[in-house]
Amino acid sequence: MVPDFKDIQANRPSVEITSDQIAALQEQFKKAGSAEDRHQCIMQWDALRRNLDTWESLTHLNFAQDTKNPDYKAEQDFADEALPGFTKLHVEMKRMLLESEHRSELSNAIGEHAFRLWESDIKTFDPAVKEDLVQEAKLKAEYIELMASAKIEIDGKTVNLSGLQPYITHQDRELRYEAVTKRWDFFKEHQERFDGIYAELTALRTKMSTALGFENYVGLGYARMQRVDYNAEDVARFRKQVVEDLVPLCVELREKQREALGVEKLMYWDEAVHSKIGNPKPQGDGAWMVEQARTMFSEMNPELGDFFNMMADKGYLDLETRDGKAGGGFCTSFPSVGVPFVFANFNGTKHDAEVFTHEIGHAFQNWCSRKHQPLDYLWPTYESCEIHSMSLEFLCWPHMELFFKENADEFRRLHLTESLFFIPYGVAVDDFQHRIYENPNATPEERHAMWRECEKLYMPWRDYGDLDFVGEGRRWQLQRHIYLMPFYYIDYTLAQTCALQYWVRAESDRDEAMTSYVELCKQGGKEAFQTLARSANLVSPLEDGCLKEVVAKARKLFEEQY
Ligand code: ZN
Repeated sequence: MVPDFKDIQANRPSVEITSDQIAALQEQFKKAGSAEDRHQCIMQWDALRRNLDTWESLTHLNFAQDTKNPDYKAEQDFADEALPGFTKLHVEMKRMLLESEHRSELSNAIGEHAFRLWESDIKTFDPAVKEDLVQEAKLKAEYIELMASAKIEIDGKTVNLSGLQPYITHQDRELRYEAVTKRWDFFKEHQERFDGIYAELTALRTKMSTALGFENYVGLGYARMQRVDYNAEDVARFRKQVVEDLVPLCVELREKQREALGVEKLMYWDEAVHSKIGNPKPQGDGAWMVEQARTMFSEMNPELGDFFNMMADKGYLDLETRDGKAGGGFCTSFPSVGVPFVFANFNGTKHDAEVFTHEIGHAFQNWCSRKHQPLDYLWPTYESCEIHSMSLEFLCWPHMELFFKENADEFRRLHLTESLFFIPYGVAVDDFQHRIYENPNATPEERHAMWRECEKLYMPWRDYGDLDFVGEGRRWQLQRHIYLMPFYYIDYTLAQTCALQYWVRAESDRDEAMTSYVELCKQGGKEAFQTLARSANLVSPLEDGCLKEVVAKARKLFEEQY
C-alpha cells in the first residue's frame, strides 16, 4: 500500500549509529558460513542505504519546496555536513565486498554490474577529501541560493529566474530583449560571486582529484558519474559526430527560424521563439493539465496510467511555481518507500506540458524498478535515466492535442526542432567542462574565452548583439549543472540521441516502440548504458553513425512537411 506523500517520514540518521551498524554487518559477513548468510548481510546493508537515501531526498526536497524555511535549511545544512561521513562508511562496505574471496558467488547473486559501479565509487572517496566534500556542498548551496535570490522587475511584476522564462520566449521581440537584458543584469550584479564560486569549486575539485590519484578532475568526474563503459575519448568522438552530422542541419533550421520570425538577423534573444505568433502554450492551468495527463497516460499504457493517477492522487507532484521555491524541475525518490516525486515550476509556457512528458518518464522508470536489489539498480546511471524521460516526450506525440488543441502540430514541430538544437548546446557544455578541468588555473576571463570557443564550434549561429556582458562568454553561468554536477550534461545529449531513435521507430511502429520503452524502464539500472541501449535495439551514441538516420529523417520531414 503506497502512503500519501505527507505521511512519509525520515528520521535524521546518525553517523555514529550507522558506523556501529556497518561494523556489525562487516563482522557478520566475515563470520557467515553460507552464501545465504552473506546475501542476507548485503540485503541488511541495502536497507540501511535505502533509509539514508530516503532521508537525503526528503531533506533536499523540503528545502527546494521552501528555501526560506529555517528548519528545512538547517536540516539541509546538516545533511551537507554529514553526508560525506556516511559516504565514508558505505565506501568501506563496498571495498570489503569488492575484496571478498566470495566475490564471484556474490556477483552471481546480485549481478556483476553493482561491483563495477562500486569499483568506480571507491575511487572517488578517501577520508583525506572528506572536508573538501563538505566545502564543495557549501559552495553548491551558495550557488543555489544566489540563483533563487533573483528578483526581477518586468511587465509590472517581480519574478524569479524561472518566472522570467515566459518573457524570454515571448512573441514580442522588445519584451524578449528586455527579459534577456534583465537576466544578465542580475548576473552582472553578482558577477564576483558567480565567478568566485566557480573558481573555488574548480580549485577544490582539482585538489580532490590529485589527492585521489587522478591526473585532473576529468577522471574523478567520470568516476563520480559512474561511467563504467565509456571514457573521455569516446565522448570526444560523439561530439565530433555532432559537429559533422548535426550542426549543419541546425544551421539550416536556424535560417528557417529566422525566416519564420521575419527578422533580418536571428539574435540570441530570438533563439527560443520559432514563429511570429509565439510558441504554443498549454490551453489551461496546472490542475487542468494534470487531468489531461491522466487521460494521456491511461491511453498510452495501462501501467503508466495507473502509476500517474497514484502520483497525482497521493500528493507526489509539486508543480506550481511560488516565491521561495527553488528553481528547476527534477524527479527524486524515496527508496525505502518505493515511490518517486516530481518537482517543477510551472510558468504557463509549453515547458509545463513537458514536465509531464519528461519527468514522469523518470518517475515511471523508478517505479518499475523499485523492487530491484541492490539499491544501485533502482536508477541507472544518468545518461540511461534520460533515455526514459526524453523518449517518453516523443512517445507522447500523438496525445499532444490534449494540451495544445489545434496547436499540437506546431508543438511537435517545435519539440523536434528544440531536441535537435539541444544536442549542440549540450556538447558545448561538455566540451567546456573538459577544457576547464584540464586547465584548472585559468582566470575567469580565460574561462569565458573557452566558452566562446565552444559556442563557435557547436553553435556557429549565435549572436549576442549588444549584450556585451553575456557575449563575453558568460552564458555557461546560467547552466546549473556546471556548478552543481560537473560532467553531468553529455548525458542528456547521449540520451537525446537514443530518444530520437525512438522517435524514428515510433513513427513507423508506435506499439513496438512503446513496448520496447516499457521493457527498458523495467530493466532500471541493472546494466551499464551501452548494454541497456543495445538491449532496446538502439545504436549506442558512442558508436559511429548514431545520428545519421535521425538527421536524414528530420531533414526530410522539415523539407516536406514543416
Ligand atoms: Zn531528466
